[in-house]
Amino acid sequence: MPPKNELRNKEIECPKCWVTMRQEEVEVFGPNVVIDTCPKCGGIWLDHSELKKLLKDRKLSDYLTKHIGTQSKSKLVCPRCGWLMDIETAEDVEVDVCLKCGGVWLDYGELEKLREISKSGFKGDELAKAEERWEELVQKERESVLLGLFNRLSRR
Ligand SMILES: [Zn+2]
Ligand SMILES: [Zn+2]
Repeated sequence: MPPKNELRNKEIECPKCWVTMRQEEVEVFGPNVVIDTCPKCGGIWLDHSELKKLLKDRKLSDYLTKHIGTQSKSKLVCPRCGWLMDIETAEDVEVDVCLKCGGVWLDYGELEKLREISKSGFKGDELAKAEERWEELVQKERESVLLGLFNRLSRR
């Protein structure tokens, strides 16, 4: 295995057109991000955490890359590690996320769309919040059932 940096700087091929992608430096807050863009279809490859830096939206980028399952609905193969990818959606934008390295493939124009979603306030996390609250509720319910059981046992 080559060191991680070497692997990162390796040129990759577009998972759609199989041409070598160009590396482009993007200015962000902090160290600049080097992203790979396809000269043919205009798609963008972002390694894990690069999406967060580009969007400056932790919620949205976490939403897209954190809870990826084991299903592979995407037809693409990860250009970075060769693993299967899955499709994640934020409102009407569908992105391909690698199940192994967490890299993200964006078709042409999708980065702008994600920026728009981020600007208008991403609502997807409301669902996540509701799920969290639900889990808390279930947890509390379980605890109270156990507590009731314990009280009944100790009363004997
Ligand atoms: Zn391409
Ligand atoms: Zn990968």
